[in-house]
Amino acid sequence: MSVTKEQVLDALGKVAAPDGTPLPKTGTLSEIVAGDKIFFSLTVDAAVVQAWEPVRKRAEEAVKAIPGVQSAMVALTAERKGGAGAAAPRPQQGAPAHSHAPAAGAAPRGQPTQQGVPGVTSIIAVASGKGGVGKSTTAINLALGLRDLGMKVGVLDADIYGPSLPKLLAIRERPQTVGGTRLKPIERHGLTVMSIGFLIEEETPMIWRGPMVMSALTQMLREVEWGTLDIMVVDMPPGTGDAQLTMAQQVPLKGAVIVSTPQDLALIDARRGIAMFKRVNVPVLGIVENMSTFICPKCGERTDIFGHGGARKEAERLGVPFLGEVPLDMMIRETSDSGLPIVATQPDGPHAAAYRAIAQRVRDQLGSAGAAKPAPKIVIES
Ligand code: ADP
Repeated sequence: MSVTKEQVLDALGKVAAPDGTPLPKTGTLSEIVAGDKIFFSLTVDAAVVQAWEPVRKRAEEAVKAIPGVQSAMVALTAERKGGAGAAAPRPQQGAPAHSHAPAAGAAPRGQPTQQGVPGVTSIIAVASGKGGVGKSTTAINLALGLRDLGMKVGVLDADIYGPSLPKLLAIRERPQTVGGTRLKPIERHGLTVMSIGFLIEEETPMIWRGPMVMSALTQMLREVEWGTLDIMVVDMPPGTGDAQLTMAQQVPLKGAVIVSTPQDLALIDARRGIAMFKRVNVPVLGIVENMSTFICPKCGERTDIFGHGGARKEAERLGVPFLGEVPLDMMIRETSDSGLPIVATQPDGPHAAAYRAIAQRVRDQLGSAGAAKPAPKIVIES
């Protein structure tokens, strides 16, 4: 039995806001995703978040009590007054938008407009111009590669339309709450990970609307006990639409890694991805060419199905670093799809080495693109 939006609103009419107003009249409700699993968010001013947490809880309980509802998830999102959300480019911060490295003598990419996440040194995005190019597989193995370099690494699955971390890491448990409002991330293979997929059922239709996407992302970024991390790898939703642009702008990113397959079409998409990050003034750390060479699982022979080296050439042409290539290999697919990422489970193999080399280059790029370099010393001779 499917529950309608009207039924949900009806139930929420009996839930009062802290000032006694029935919830549907408060203007805090996002779009309601109805069905047998219900999602929506409440967006309130940051100053009154504490007072709203019991309301969020009561709203969730009220919705769960509707006959036919299997599960309900109500997110509470704090918004600073003035309203965030529009995908406006960030103000320029020293480095010109077309450059991935700060210009000599330019002010370092300093305080972005968005707040950082306390305890997290750097946040990078792994993105692709379109789906299915192996973005998530790359993100998790890159994260493990960074772990192997001795870094404390977190992974945030921001692919809200199709979260893949539960599958990539075979995680079925649900995150625990801390103090009623914050979520404890899950630990796997030495990584600290969080995904909207841990909170909802796998078969849930992902009909997210713009404000909900942002509120879910903000929650996963700011209301999760990430602890101290050297780096957080954000697995972005594929594509370069408004949602992605807004995310690229809202998350305090130090840089972005673009994953592409060698086909021309994917590269056109990859170019869009690069353009998107440049638009919001996020340095592109480089391109990873995934599924570059096919390795036959039977004979080990290498075949360049899509033509080889397209991403490297494209990276050169666009003036962004080439971070490395990963072959199309059955072992990568099998390990990735069975929740046993290859860098964690076959650390001595050639693929783990390839991902580690990519991780090393990412770290190097991050050093040059994101580090606050000391200002050049200016000597004035009189
Ligand atoms: P995306 O995040 O871009 O949608 P995924 O990481 O989910 O892509 O990968 C899509 C499919 O391709 C998955 O089945 C995954 O296991 C497989 N895959 C990804 N990279 C490789 C690779 N290098 N070799 C073989 N299969 C791969």
